[in-house]
Amino acid sequence: MEWNGLTESYLDYSATTPVCAAAAEACLDAMNRDFGNPSSLYRLGMEAENIVSAARRTLAKALGCEEQSLFFTGSATESNNIAIFGSLAANPRKGKRIITTMVEHAAVLGPFAELQKRGYETVFLAPDETGSYRAEQFFDAVDDRTALISVMLVNNEVGTRYPVEEIIRAVRRKNPDTLIHIDAVQGAFKLPFSIRTAAPDLLSVSGHKLYAPKGVGALYIRKGVKVSPLLFGGGQEKGIRPGTESVPLIAAFAAAVNWYLPQQKELLSRFEALQGELFRRLEEIPEVSVNSPAGGVPYITNFSVKGIRSEIMLHFLESRGVFVSSGSACAKGAKSHVLDALGLSDARADTALRVSFGAYTEREDIARLADGLREGLSSLIRTN
Ligand code: PLP
Repeated sequence: MEWNGLTESYLDYSATTPVCAAAAEACLDAMNRDFGNPSSLYRLGMEAENIVSAARRTLAKALGCEEQSLFFTGSATESNNIAIFGSLAANPRKGKRIITTMVEHAAVLGPFAELQKRGYETVFLAPDETGSYRAEQFFDAVDDRTALISVMLVNNEVGTRYPVEEIIRAVRRKNPDTLIHIDAVQGAFKLPFSIRTAAPDLLSVSGHKLYAPKGVGALYIRKGVKVSPLLFGGGQEKGIRPGTESVPLIAAFAAAVNWYLPQQKELLSRFEALQGELFRRLEEIPEVSVNSPAGGVPYITNFSVKGIRSEIMLHFLESRGVFVSSGSACAKGAKSHVLDALGLSDARADTALRVSFGAYTEREDIARLADGLREGLSSLIRTN
């Protein structure tokens, strides 16, 4: 498989991915050759507009939705913000209660914290004893004043795949007027998943978790669901996200999807084999305990290394040419709210590392990681 030449072992694909060759090429073409403004009326503009339309078709087909329901944004953070603030602003009569989970990404928890300040009754559901969520938890929490629920498809820190299809059905049974948003950033395109089957009202995805450059996302809005824009301007993306479309990034996102999807099945089984190898290696190290609940996605694994703080081990591994993350990249060293919600002790959470696989991960990367952990354990000073 083509690779960008990095000789180190990159094991942090959930933070971001390298850009695949197909996406880089599509991006370059859209910057050089097809550089027109999609709103311009002459040929160059129409060509740029065609690129955006084709990209929308590609993403819509991959996600299982109508292309008219898909809007390009600048990131999944922006998609989440438009979904949450925009749907509440457009539907003030639905009520003032909004529900999410304690384990969401900051791009959902942030908007919820802000809405709490603005007077919304916010509910943060705790995971059950298995570390996942049951549909009944949402059924019980939703009432006739619940305007919105937001739940992620796959947890970015521990890899749990939540039963969003069942959750959506349960919420619809309890209150068909409640809007349902799915943050699908860590699962969309990588797992078999279809908007048509799951039937959410709103769904967010991000380009840079899928081998496209940073700075492009998309938001699905189910036909008929009202969403107010957060920005006002030239009316692009039907006014949902005005601002000249980033044709190069959008073209790259679609190229990455076209590159990844045919490999999805094969990659998933590769990740399963790699995770099996990782578990075997970790089991041989008595100081290591796995934090990811059983049955998660095979490409995200979280574990703790007894007595060695995450950042210390992270930098030690870096010195051995292995890149991993301490919990979530966005948390930048703060104690993980996800591990906390899963009931892990401070000592476990403070020593947690996240390893995430991608298209270029090889068995040797795992061997290097395991060797690095052993070396770290024998040379670093332990805290307990
Ligand atoms: N949601 C989840 C679950 C994520 O993992 C991330 C990124 O880590 C985001 C949202 C934010 O995506 P973006 O970087 O495109 O804003």
